[in-house]
Amino acid sequence: METQILKKDQLDTAVEFLRKGELVAFPTETVYGLGALATDERAVKAVYAAKGRPSDNPLIVTVSDAAMMSRFAREVPDRAKKLIDSFWPGPLTILLFVKPGSLPEAVTGGLDTVAFRCPDDSLTHELIAKLGEPIVGPSANTSTKPSPTTAQHVFHDLKGKIAAIVDGGQTEIGLESTIVDLSVKTPIVLRPGEITPEALQKVLGETVLMNNGQAQTSGVPKAPGMKYRHYAPAAPVFIVDHPEDFKQIKFDDQTAFVALDDVLSRLPNKIQSFSLGKNTDEAAHRLFEALRYFDDRPQVKQIYVQGFTHGKICAAYMNRLNKAAGGHHLEPRVR
Ligand code: AMP
Ligand code: MG
Repeated sequence: METQILKKDQLDTAVEFLRKGELVAFPTETVYGLGALATDERAVKAVYAAKGRPSDNPLIVTVSDAAMMSRFAREVPDRAKKLIDSFWPGPLTILLFVKPGSLPEAVTGGLDTVAFRCPDDSLTHELIAKLGEPIVGPSANTSTKPSPTTAQHVFHDLKGKIAAIVDGGQTEIGLESTIVDLSVKTPIVLRPGEITPEALQKVLGETVLMNNGQAQTSGVPKAPGMKYRHYAPAAPVFIVDHPEDFKQIKFDDQTAFVALDDVLSRLPNKIQSFSLGKNTDEAAHRLFEALRYFDDRPQVKQIYVQGFTHGKICAAYMNRLNKAAGGHHLEPRVR
């Protein structure tokens, strides 16, 4: 199959593909999603196959508005309405109980909940509204690889496997949406993103918990994706917690440095490096691109990436970086 790259005046072609059960990648403000008609079981199964994704890891359902969502939710509680009023369209995914029989089991992984998201992207909004049905939207990358923030990243991973990619340019935020579970007594963030638990708490006027990997003690995993390898480039990744520790790393062709401009400027010119920009927001935006960049440079055998402790996006950034690094940190020098 030849994968077409579609421009904004070719949305009708994308709608036709989706209606026929074909796969079309689409832009959002976070990362590119891999779209398929959410009500078509065969199309949804093809998404798992194209990504190489384990079938017990459910998919997010992407809608054009809350009215479309309500066709597939068992009920829409007041707190969901509050969050939707404040944050949709935007980088917030909401977990509710699914209306039984309204979606194929392949979407929910057999769970009784379903994750809904309404992206803040005018092309994708128009695409779903024209289709009149929701599309599933996992990140449009090969499973285990860093998520795609450009149409070219999607093409790199999925060319020949999907019908088309709607090219909306580079994504704005660069890290996936916040996922909040509203199917439980106390709302809990299952995946950190740009919208923080504090921001949710403020709107809801009630406590919002943060899943730190320990909240799940028994039963079906709440965020099945958490148990899988994620965001990993070909070379191993190490987190550098203190910027001054970059100086203790041996400089050679096999070693790559990923850090903010002010850190890189204090290191020798000849090192292999990728800039994370000027601040933590820019770093979040560039992290996945940085990790992908060295996959095309096979001489690189280890990648050292700057970690952060401050900034609104810090929790989301460190969550993805920790997974990419498998929890490995550069052994800090004794101070
Ligand atoms: P991605 O496929 O990269 O968009 O990530 C989607 C994330 O949402 C994965 O971590 C899934 O495990 C999670 N997810 C989707 N649906 C559900 C659900 N019903 N319950 C819990 N987590 C979900
Ligand atoms: Mg993903």
